[in-house]
Amino acid sequence: MTKRIVLALAGLLVLVLAAAWTLRGEIALRAMARLMDRNLAAAPGDGLPDGLHVVLCGSGSPMPDPGRAGPCTAVIAGKRLFVFDAGSGSVRNLTLMGLPPARVEGVFLTHFHSDHIDGLGELMLQHWAGGAATSPLPVHGPPGVETVVGGLMTAYGPDRGYRIAHHGEAVVPPSGFGGEARPFAAGPAPVVLVDEPDLKIRAFSVDHSPVSPAVGYIIDYRGRRAVISGDTRIAASVEQAARGADLLVHEALSERLVGLQKAAAERAGRANLSKIFTDIQGYHADPEAVAALAARAQVRYLLLTHIVPPLPVRALEGPFLGDSRRIFDGPVRVGRDGDMISLPAGSRDIRYTHSPR
Ligand SMILES: [Zn+2]
Ligand SMILES: [Zn+2]
Repeated sequence: MTKRIVLALAGLLVLVLAAAWTLRGEIALRAMARLMDRNLAAAPGDGLPDGLHVVLCGSGSPMPDPGRAGPCTAVIAGKRLFVFDAGSGSVRNLTLMGLPPARVEGVFLTHFHSDHIDGLGELMLQHWAGGAATSPLPVHGPPGVETVVGGLMTAYGPDRGYRIAHHGEAVVPPSGFGGEARPFAAGPAPVVLVDEPDLKIRAFSVDHSPVSPAVGYIIDYRGRRAVISGDTRIAASVEQAARGADLLVHEALSERLVGLQKAAAERAGRANLSKIFTDIQGYHADPEAVAALAARAQVRYLLLTHIVPPLPVRALEGPFLGDSRRIFDGPVRVGRDGDMISLPAGSRDIRYTHSPR
């Protein structure tokens, strides 16, 4: 008897699977329509508690890593969306994560290494054409940001012409094309860039020499604080800025693992790469040293990003971190694209989720 029931159920299962296989195109079409509705209706902060939410739209570096686009950190403050750096692939991630580029209120650049601006042209284009923007995207950065924004607008000039001619000025208003550079000068003491009752954004200089200027950012929203290091070696200014912060998003390069890359380059007779692998160790920060900084600054959560070298399998996270989890007794996460840390207003909660949710 039992055997017959099992056989009948197995037969039914085969029939259901066969029907699903036959109708797979139709099922996929319906799922796609639902996804389109969801994406077009998506607004920053949807489904999230009021608070500060930090999302890694790009947790990688110039080196290709399947789980990590170029450097990009999105910050949702209440219902508002800001982006810190726009590396290669990160703008597509924003859309996939339900954070429409058209809704980005402002971009904040940490410095002008190409991996941090590779996606900026795409972001300015999506902001304009995706949202019928009537004013350019504000792009804040240290001096030099005018050159970056102006250069990209020149490069996108022909594209601007095609789109206006094709879609019309009502759809792509000429006044909304591109970005508006907003340069500021920052020293180790933070300078205020946005000062509103609920939201404050400040910048401070970091130490990425010989690359200069280079800055990090402090974001305060309704009593919660996140600090973004930008690219830097271990710096007193970061430690100062991070003091008591709910979240520190810090760059990380494992000297041990980059040492393996350097040895491989030498074995392969690639002297140029060997020199690069030596040089980069001097202006980034090793995870254990970052953990020690986080402990000294008494931050509550440490999120590592700008992960160098690429970590294609999670088993490498242990060797990447070394003793970090012993040095810093709060949570330490090796960032991946889609990681979101939520800091709800009016609480001390720190919640981790992964986007798309
Ligand atoms: Zn970088
Ligand atoms: Zn850099």
